[in-house]
Amino acid sequence: MLQLLVEASGFAAALLFILGLKRMASPATALRGIVLAGVGMLVAVVASFGYLADVGEAARPHRLANLGLALLALALGIGWAWRSGRRVAVTAMPQMVALYNGMGGGAAAAVAAVELTGTHADSPLQLGVTMLGALIGAVSLAGSLVAWAKLDGRMKSAWRFRGQGALNAVVLLLTLVLGALAVFGPGAMAAWCAVLFFAGALAFGVLMTLPIGGADMPVVISLYNAFTGLAVGLEGYALHNPALMIAGMVVGSAGTLLTLLMAKAMNRSLTNVLFSRFGEGAAAAQGEIAGSMKSADAADAAVTMRYAGSVIIVPGYGLAVAQAQAKLYEFVKLLQAAGVDVKFAIHPVAGRMPGHMNVLLAEAGVPYDLIFDMDDINDSFASTDVALVIGANDVVNPAARTDKASPIYGMPILNVDRAHQAYVIKRGQGKGYAGVENLLFYGDHCSMVYGDALAVLNAMVQAIKDLPA
Ligand code: NDP
Repeated sequence: MLQLLVEASGFAAALLFILGLKRMASPATALRGIVLAGVGMLVAVVASFGYLADVGEAARPHRLANLGLALLALALGIGWAWRSGRRVAVTAMPQMVALYNGMGGGAAAAVAAVELTGTHADSPLQLGVTMLGALIGAVSLAGSLVAWAKLDGRMKSAWRFRGQGALNAVVLLLTLVLGALAVFGPGAMAAWCAVLFFAGALAFGVLMTLPIGGADMPVVISLYNAFTGLAVGLEGYALHNPALMIAGMVVGSAGTLLTLLMAKAMNRSLTNVLFSRFGEGAAAAQGEIAGSMKSADAADAAVTMRYAGSVIIVPGYGLAVAQAQAKLYEFVKLLQAAGVDVKFAIHPVAGRMPGHMNVLLAEAGVPYDLIFDMDDINDSFASTDVALVIGANDVVNPAARTDKASPIYGMPILNVDRAHQAYVIKRGQGKGYAGVENLLFYGDHCSMVYGDALAVLNAMVQAIKDLPA
């Protein structure tokens, strides 16, 4: 009876994951989707305890002894996630996502390590799957930690040295050989090989992520998300736990799709991201830039937009830093009340995590029908009166189209430079994430409105309100 209940809960959890994921496809239903998937996860965790009863008498004391440890781990995990989730700043969310990704991969690798001690894995296929999950999980853990350090500004964007590719290949090969010896080698030697196998997998995760940086980070983050899902799914197979298997595979396939979409958004293949010298950051030489930057007053910019026919707004990372999304929407409502056609254009890698800008605008209550993806709106810039860029930089840099030496060369950008007039709100001369000058800012039709986005938007709102009715 208990076994039936456990199996039914696994099925229910899987169903909730899939329904949750489906709802996450639209911002309008995303919140309910997250709640559904969360309930699914709760059901799966509770059902996992049912497996305690699903073992023979001999194994039961061993499992029960671990019950206390499992509950302690759960309490620690819930406490930490609850605290960090409540306190995290929106701008630090990408780092947190990278950390959680890594934890998932690490958990899969830890499960594999326990499996290797021989309690479960009996057939060669099962051992092979366990080792593969261990490899992917450990790579994801170490790689995600490096990605976290880079996103958090604790590490240089891209570390490169001569012979890096060859070193990575040797470390991977050695790790695979050690993995095979850990499975097929004799007793004591196998144990040592297993330890070295995990060390090799962790080292490979670090080495693989070191050279990747700059504008390539979004692709790497979603790749590790996919890796974690895959590792968890494989360990679900090794543990005979269908809920874990399905949850892992759902995350793995969703993560893989997201990775391919992000790579496509950057106009890059995955192999390019992982093995080429793209995303090298500020090191690329930039030639003489024609033109000069002109600054404009916030009130003048606001009044120009108030009397324009159409305005496209491009939000970027700086909007999240300033937390100016609510003030921005207040400004938009004033423009709309004056009959201006206002739309938002979202670049797929704007901000610091996939969907960052959508989350920000949804938080401010911006209606979804005002928000357009890059491919759907890019042709409209040429016929738009004013483009307003708020805290965005790399995603509107025309150097991506023309400058082969630029680390963002080839990345599709939002065509702000083709609008009749552009205003850019930013604090000063700060560069974007890729660390390069932006040719847009020097264009004839572009004016800079300097200041923190919130302060500038406050002034803009006030300027419109001060106009005679
Ligand atoms: P950028 O990081 O290119 O530029 C942000 C700009 O905002 C800066 O130039 C900065 O200039 C300005 N800014 C910062 N704070 C404020 C503020 N308080 N008020 C006003 N302006 C401010 O942002 P984009 O969104 O254009 O591009 C995203 C970049 O991040 C891409 O290169 C992408 O590849 C990368 N990335 C994206 C990830 C994702 O998943 N989306 C993950 C990791 C990296 P100043 O200092 O002068 O104010």
